[in-house]
Amino acid sequence: MAKPVIFSIDDDPSVLNAVEHDLRAHYGQEYRIIPINSGKAALGYLKKMQQRNETVALFLVDQRMPEMNGVEFLQRAIQAYPQAKRVLLTAYADTEAAISSINEVGLDYYLMKPWHPPEERLYPILDELIEDWKIHVHLPYDGIRVAGTLWSLPSHQVKDFLTRHQIPYQWLDIEKDSNVRQLVEDATSENVKLPTVFFPDGTLLVQPNLKDLADKVGLQTRAELPFYDIAIVGSGPAGLAAAVYAGSEGYKCVVIEKAAPGGQAGSSPKIENYLGFPSGISGDDFTRRAISQAKRFGVEIISAQEAVKVCVKDKYRLIQFADGMEISCHAALVATGASFHKLRMPGGDKLTGAGIYYGAAHTEAMYYKDRHVYVAGGANSAAQGALYLSRFASKVTVLIRGPQPTASKYLVDAMEEDEKVELLLNTDLVELKGETTLDQIVVKNTVSNEIQTFDAAALFVFIGVRPQSQLVADLVKRDEKGYIYTGTDLIVDNKPPQGWPLDRPPFLFETSVPGIFAAGDVTFGTNHRVASAAGAGAIAFAMMKEYLKLL
Ligand SMILES: Cc1cc2nc3c(=O)[nH]c(=O)nc-3n(C[C@H](O)[C@H](O)[C@H](O)COP(=O)(O)OP(=O)(O)OC[C@H]3O[C@@H](n4cnc5c(N)ncnc54)[C@H](O)[C@@H]3O)c2cc1C
Repeated sequence: MAKPVIFSIDDDPSVLNAVEHDLRAHYGQEYRIIPINSGKAALGYLKKMQQRNETVALFLVDQRMPEMNGVEFLQRAIQAYPQAKRVLLTAYADTEAAISSINEVGLDYYLMKPWHPPEERLYPILDELIEDWKIHVHLPYDGIRVAGTLWSLPSHQVKDFLTRHQIPYQWLDIEKDSNVRQLVEDATSENVKLPTVFFPDGTLLVQPNLKDLADKVGLQTRAELPFYDIAIVGSGPAGLAAAVYAGSEGYKCVVIEKAAPGGQAGSSPKIENYLGFPSGISGDDFTRRAISQAKRFGVEIISAQEAVKVCVKDKYRLIQFADGMEISCHAALVATGASFHKLRMPGGDKLTGAGIYYGAAHTEAMYYKDRHVYVAGGANSAAQGALYLSRFASKVTVLIRGPQPTASKYLVDAMEEDEKVELLLNTDLVELKGETTLDQIVVKNTVSNEIQTFDAAALFVFIGVRPQSQLVADLVKRDEKGYIYTGTDLIVDNKPPQGWPLDRPPFLFETSVPGIFAAGDVTFGTNHRVASAAGAGAIAFAMMKEYLKLL
């Protein structure tokens, strides 16, 4: 954290030098001494300090300055730094001004020039003020700060990206705090654009795209090599398991991830059915361990890059990224998992990020403290989301289309035991209402056809899981929903798929194109579980190894 600042402001260079010398000698170790020769320049400096979230301990200001006198300066400066101590440096003739400013700007002291010797006439006074400041000051947060509005998709995306990458940040709500609005206006020349992300080094990003944000926070967004033995698309359990084995056996391996490491598993508040973790493991923890394990074995992980197409060129497999970049490899693994599909009903698009969130209970839960929120879905992910939300919300109503939740028994039991969680069975969502933010949801009972409208602070959606296989849509065999066929599922009547060019049948987890493998939730027959995906990723690597041997 940057040292707190002591400002000395005086237009007379000899006085400014002398004050700076004395301040530096006594306070230089603990405080940054900033000498400035005009009030106007000091106000400009203060704005930059606010953007860097730095703090001021004390202003020591000359009263007599041509453009702006000391009291006028303090009147403006204390709006930004109300906790800072205020000392006016005065000549005898300015005593009146100093006395009247005691009330006007809450002056803490006025010092008569000259102040020598400082040991007697300067330090004891300032020491006391600084001690008092230290006791009462709330030191500012010295990490990344995100200023935005709660009900905005771009703000949500930035928060979600940082949360899912486990990068701490402070959320500043422009609608709740006028100082935040001022801070953003100053930083963006009054043309307020949200979110505005402030970094501790004083720089900022305005409405950043995720790649710029990833670059800024130090994530790798470009491949280091043009060619890899194995390239993996997707850093969920399947992709990371394959990566750990590939790295550990010395293969040049890269993982490409468009959103956040850990995939769906990374967004789980607690995975309780993964072997070896009897009291469960959070998605964050699971992801952190897997990523550091893969990196330890030399695997490259490229963040905020979407792979848009996989194609074949001779014995190479090419992966094209959304930004035009391309890498080549000998074997590619599609481990792109599944995602919740967007609600196709009135209000669905407009209110996404403004009260409607897809699987993002983790990122948004704490902003819905003491509010009544809704969860759509009856499977494990929805149940976990509901239980996590109930730690913050006053009530969580879970909308379940069928007559029973389909979640595992331990999760159904936990929901039934949680007084804040209510289950609405046989309930279908029909409409989402609200102008700029979600206000109400309309639901229909599928048995009685009764329509009901409820006030809703937020709706967390965990339904309609769809495989993310578009990048190989024109290349490999998929079922009508988009799940990729692999291995023995490709064999019909003892025959390999049409166009299969080799004498051998496809390996386990190999797709209808040799050298392109798929594992986890994106594959046909998946059971949507962390352990299954991790296991499939591990076996897919073993098969890719066999494939590489035959090249
Ligand atoms: C909230 C929640 C809780 C869950 N809890 C449990 C649980 O407790 N126990 C359990 O067994 N299972 C649980 N599951 C299910 C489990 O997480 C999944 O089955 C598992 O994560 C699937 O792993 P995967 O690697 O196949 O895919 P995913 O985890 O879906 O990962 C795929 C990754 O690929 C990335 N990707 C997709 N397309 C591209 C592209 N074109 N370019 C680059 N990257 C791309 C995605 O962003 C994603 O990060 C839960 C799921 C959710 C959503």
